[in-house]
Amino acid sequence: MNTYDVVVIGAGVVGSSVAFHLQKLGAKSVLVLDRATIGAGTTSQSSGILRTHYSVKENVELARKSWAVFNDFAAYLGDDEASCGIVKSGYMIVAADGDKVEPLRASLEQQKSQGIALELLSAQQAHELMPIARFDDAALIGFEPEAGFADAYLTATSFARAARRGGVTIRENVTVNRLLIENGRVLGVSTSAGDFAASMVVSTQNIWTPELAGWTGATLPVSPERHAVLALECEGAAYTYTMPVFKDLASPGMLYCRSYGGNQMLVSEGTAGEKLDKADIEQGDISMDYVVEVGAQVAERFPAYEAAGIASSWTGVYDVTPDWNPVLGALPGIEGLVVGYGFSGHGFKLSPTVGKVLAQAALGLPSDVSLAPYSVERFATGALLTGKYGIGAVS
Ligand SMILES: Cc1cc2nc3c(=O)[nH]c(=O)nc-3n(C[C@H](O)[C@H](O)[C@H](O)COP(=O)(O)OP(=O)(O)OC[C@H]3O[C@@H](n4cnc5c(N)ncnc54)[C@H](O)[C@@H]3O)c2cc1C
Repeated sequence: MNTYDVVVIGAGVVGSSVAFHLQKLGAKSVLVLDRATIGAGTTSQSSGILRTHYSVKENVELARKSWAVFNDFAAYLGDDEASCGIVKSGYMIVAADGDKVEPLRASLEQQKSQGIALELLSAQQAHELMPIARFDDAALIGFEPEAGFADAYLTATSFARAARRGGVTIRENVTVNRLLIENGRVLGVSTSAGDFAASMVVSTQNIWTPELAGWTGATLPVSPERHAVLALECEGAAYTYTMPVFKDLASPGMLYCRSYGGNQMLVSEGTAGEKLDKADIEQGDISMDYVVEVGAQVAERFPAYEAAGIASSWTGVYDVTPDWNPVLGALPGIEGLVVGYGFSGHGFKLSPTVGKVLAQAALGLPSDVSLAPYSVERFATGALLTGKYGIGAVS
């Protein structure tokens, strides 16, 4: 049986980042296993938005540290060819009079106290940045210049390539069937390509985390939820790369939008999606009712989009936990097991720092941020990380 210091299950953007950081932090023999290919899970379905706007302060910190990596990606990876496809468009968030104003104000204050560069905009200033939108209902507008979007698949494959260059072995098309555990201690993994010994396993299985729950008997709350994304095209009202990512807390679906390809609008709802019985990343149906409903909300904010057409559409699946925030760190009761799952539709922007802190946890090194708030035990103790906006990926 081949022996490794650490085995990582899953080569999504989180597992690839873990692998990169493991070798960077000095791990000598690391094996990453994925039943499919690098980044082909939910990572490939991501909308790619990068912001530090969160109402949960721990998330602000993870996002801020991660933004610094995205912003200097090639240098951080030590690879001049590496790219995460970043577009630094900024991020605008708007609330109308009602129940979202105070949560937004409190979140912006919190961010400011954490040192995030932020501006409060008048409707006119907002319109100058975003001329295709109307702001006559806006009660509060926040703008974060250091934000934008990037390509999650490109990021995952770049982390994976840098990890491989640092000596990590990544094997695709290998399924982990169970963990090898004796007396509460991880000894390795049993896979479709045989058994591998390792005293440390990191699971970054996203919507497939229930498999890990089955192997360990641990209670790991997470459910798969499908979300639809539309790309809209509107003649005379292009959503250009210079226009910010936009979060509309005034819309019933708490819509998020960004430029797609420099002229189209990528848009999706920021609320709950379609609950699935099991992990399944196949494309789902997008009902005409959904298109009409989202279209009406878009036209409310972007009047010219009344006449927009759908250029393309797709679905993707979130790994949703009860408080819409991830579980990070060692799993209590089993020695040699670290998990990172439950990103609830907002894990891409956190992936550089999450990868680093999971690698630190696996190697027994001090952590850049405390993982205590992200412990799985919070679901039993009630110390949830629920955001000020309630459920939804804005968190
Ligand atoms: C539609 C959509 C929009 C999103 N938009 C944003 C956004 O704008 N901003 C943002 O920050 N985040 C966003 N996200 C969330 C973000 O993309 C995810 O949190 C992130 O990509 C998850 O990465 P991951 O590595 O955890 O999961 P995945 O990419 O799903 O990787 C998990 C991997 O584990 C492998 N695996 C699982 N079980 C096994 C096993 N037993 N054996 C071998 N391999 C196994 C799978 O094959 C898979 O490749 C979005 C997500 C979706 C679906």
